[in-house]
Amino acid sequence: MAASHVFPRNCHAPLPVATSGEGCFLIDATGKRYFDGSGGAAVSCLGHSNQRVTDAIKAQLDQLAFAHTGFFTSDPAEALADFLIARAPGDLDRVYLVSGGSEATEAAIKLARQYHVERGEPQRRHLIARRQSYHGNTLGALAAGGNAWRRAQFAPLLTDMHHIAPCYEYAERAEGETLEAYGQRTADELEETIQRLGPDTVMAFIAEPVVGATLGAVPAVPGYFKRIREICDRHGVLLILDEVMCGMGRTGHLFACDADGVAPDILCIAKGLGAGYQPIGAMLASRRIYDTIADGSGFFQHGHTYVGHPVAAAAGLAVLQEMADHDLVARVNRMGQSVMQEGLTRHFGQHPHVGDIRGRGFFWGVELVADRASKTPFDPALGVAGKLKRAAMDEGLICYPMAGTRDGQQGDHVLLAPPFIATEDELEMAFAALSRALDRVLPATA
Ligand code: PMP
Repeated sequence: MAASHVFPRNCHAPLPVATSGEGCFLIDATGKRYFDGSGGAAVSCLGHSNQRVTDAIKAQLDQLAFAHTGFFTSDPAEALADFLIARAPGDLDRVYLVSGGSEATEAAIKLARQYHVERGEPQRRHLIARRQSYHGNTLGALAAGGNAWRRAQFAPLLTDMHHIAPCYEYAERAEGETLEAYGQRTADELEETIQRLGPDTVMAFIAEPVVGATLGAVPAVPGYFKRIREICDRHGVLLILDEVMCGMGRTGHLFACDADGVAPDILCIAKGLGAGYQPIGAMLASRRIYDTIADGSGFFQHGHTYVGHPVAAAAGLAVLQEMADHDLVARVNRMGQSVMQEGLTRHFGQHPHVGDIRGRGFFWGVELVADRASKTPFDPALGVAGKLKRAAMDEGLICYPMAGTRDGQQGDHVLLAPPFIATEDELEMAFAALSRALDRVLPATA
């Protein structure tokens, strides 16, 4: 193979060359097939060869490739926004189309700030987020996120943000504490932080309804987000929900927050929206926020060249129509328990190095521990999640690993987020492949 000039993720781990995709499988240059058990990073919700989406992209290219949003809107952008708003929670009313997740969260943070400035509260500048969270890799989004490892070397460049505990029941619920009491106690940390900073200085709180890339599919306990919503409302603090990974049907609800019975003021989506066929994300804003800016300066002080890209929007719309026509979100909801939870529990529930299995829909995390009883994580130097990723690839399975961090904030996990079209047999095969990989990396008797 010729030397690669593409900047790799990991300079020490050469990658196979992906050459084609077929349903839930990716195929490399040697002809080896991989079941895409994590949809990359919870992206490929329709698998890799959806004809409707590729046809929509080609048709849009033939019609109109690009028109800058400084001059025009476009039919696919309008149609996609209409589709989303018709189904969105609460009074989310306007859609700002971007090219990915980090752009969506950056836009959300800036919109929250501009909203407060325009309504005459420029002293509101603090953003509160949660530890063990991820909101993207651009500097603003990275500053908001609480993943210590991702932030570490960039810390001097990051604006000061404030972090409270995530709702991470497996690791942080006290002995004997009910789920409800734990949820309220954890949410109340937001109240305390707002009080400490000064309620009229806080602009927004941002959280993932189901924590993806840092913790591995951790939903909040019942009642947590309702309490969070109340606290935000009490203090005029905007609630931003980051559904970049968990949204767009992934959890068995089109919007993940539907399961928690709350609606945010600003909501971010990406990944599954384009399903990998085009880079696209979106920020949805409430009517109140939009009207404040429309009635004020009339100009959201933000923008990237490819905002509202017609081809990406056409892809996003085709993805959502495909999900709707085939009832895929309901399928994910149904099979989430009957196949994902059941299969994972059957294969891994008794494994001495599996501490927890959690998730919703087609979004599941398996937490790996050195010792089940004490929930002690592995020494990060062992690189357990990375080894498991490689062993799983050998077995023909793509699963998304998350390494433990040296600060002990998190242990090793593996994330499963298969395409919504995966059959029961394919999922069973994926569990078996993961089981073989796990036995190679962490023999059950070790
Ligand atoms: N927010 C969340 C919750 C994410 O999981 C991610 C990506 N893993 C992002 C934001 C950033 O998205 P992108 O990589 O598309 O910029």
